[in-house]
Amino acid sequence: MPITFEVLEKDIAGRTGRLKAGDKTVKTPLLLPVINPHLQPVLPGEMKAMGAEGIITNAYIFSRSGEYREEVMARGLHDLLGFDGLIMTDSGSFQLSVYGDVEITNLETLEFQKTIGSDIHVPLDIPTPPDADRQRASAELAVTMARLQEAKEVFGPDAPLAGPVQGGIYEDLRELAGRETGDLGFSFCPIGAVVPLMESYRYTDLVRVVMAAKNGLPPSACVHLFGAGHPAMFALAVAMGCDVFDSAAYALYAKDRRYLTPQGSYRIDELAELPCACRVCRKYSAQEIRESDDAVRLLSLHNLAVSLAEISHIRQAATEGTLWELVDDRCRSHPQLLRGYRELLKYNERLAGEDRVSKRRFFYRGEESSFRTEIITYQDRLCRLPLSGRVLIAMDGNPREGYDTILFFKPPFGPYPPALRETFPIGQSEIPDWDSAMVRTGCRGILRLTTEHPLCHFTVYAPREWYEIVCRELPGTGVHCDDI
Ligand SMILES: [Zn+2]
Repeated sequence: MPITFEVLEKDIAGRTGRLKAGDKTVKTPLLLPVINPHLQPVLPGEMKAMGAEGIITNAYIFSRSGEYREEVMARGLHDLLGFDGLIMTDSGSFQLSVYGDVEITNLETLEFQKTIGSDIHVPLDIPTPPDADRQRASAELAVTMARLQEAKEVFGPDAPLAGPVQGGIYEDLRELAGRETGDLGFSFCPIGAVVPLMESYRYTDLVRVVMAAKNGLPPSACVHLFGAGHPAMFALAVAMGCDVFDSAAYALYAKDRRYLTPQGSYRIDELAELPCACRVCRKYSAQEIRESDDAVRLLSLHNLAVSLAEISHIRQAATEGTLWELVDDRCRSHPQLLRGYRELLKYNERLAGEDRVSKRRFFYRGEESSFRTEIITYQDRLCRLPLSGRVLIAMDGNPREGYDTILFFKPPFGPYPPALRETFPIGQSEIPDWDSAMVRTGCRGILRLTTEHPLCHFTVYAPREWYEIVCRELPGTGVHCDDI
């Protein structure tokens, strides 16, 4: 059975959806906790009880394990792990990225993944590190693409195969990889080799790489951000159109005695209080966890609960259309995440093309909000407003006699006719006192309207305190102010 993906709701480039692999159907965005058979601070069955619909484990570890190899081949992965949800298996590419070599071929790992009953099989792609030069990235991408093609040819178009997208740090290679992976018929596409970017907080590069890959991938593909990661970055990744995450972070951070929150992480040794309502944090104090022999397990349980809750939070935001506000919130927890957020906002024109038209609300949360997709979509629609003759744009809210049309003004959107006062986004947006960023963005709406209607005569009345900025933003337009 092929892997299928159905999009339900869209918000920015993010979506909620249904992923079907074999006889398993799961909700997206989805977090697949990573299971290492040799080290399981939380058992797969416990994860299921916590709400994890799927897990990911490494087929290479099983295939090389004297302890597990024969048993997993005989019993199957689901039975061995005690997990009846979706199980995805990685191929050994991770080991390839760490050790530079693996003792398995592409077809051998795929055959093994099939034999043990994995629901999603990953070919042996080559994870190109970010510091690789272009020649290496290009050569390794060619190997990856050949292996993806080989996988399709040998296992058939309906095999539950993932098609990883590589290309290093080079945006054109990532886009090409995305396009070719889509052309080969892959409907589940992990974006690979991004862990080093996340580990070194290079969120600007992460955004560029993901947006490039997404530009090449078909919009219908389910996109897995391989190796992500910390719950603080899930919202940003979903906004770019990533649907699936896998996380070893819950266990790795726990091993390092670190306590995850959606706003960042703490050292358990530094915490006096536990700011969480999960089972562990209500039962134990910070000091009890610190002094417990079971600290790694307790922290793993908490870290996983927080990560799964964040995914639910994102699904809710994407369903109601408030994902930008969640991204804004999470990305303010670290300056490098804020850089990533600002980088994403540079793609706002493209993202507006994917975003939905109506949302629950628009809360202005600072200068970044002036670049949101809803404003671009609104100003595009505004240009289609039929206008003729003398048009007054009453930024100061005072209608005057002698005009054919009177428009009011709400920053950061721009002019609006009274008839749109109650509709989205004018009616559902909350803004604080005007600031210069939102006024400038609103003036862009006026400018677009005047350009679109060269035969109309526009008069703008600005409030006194914004008069100079408005004059500067609207050169050549008649801008007035009652007391000037
Ligand atoms: Zn907790």
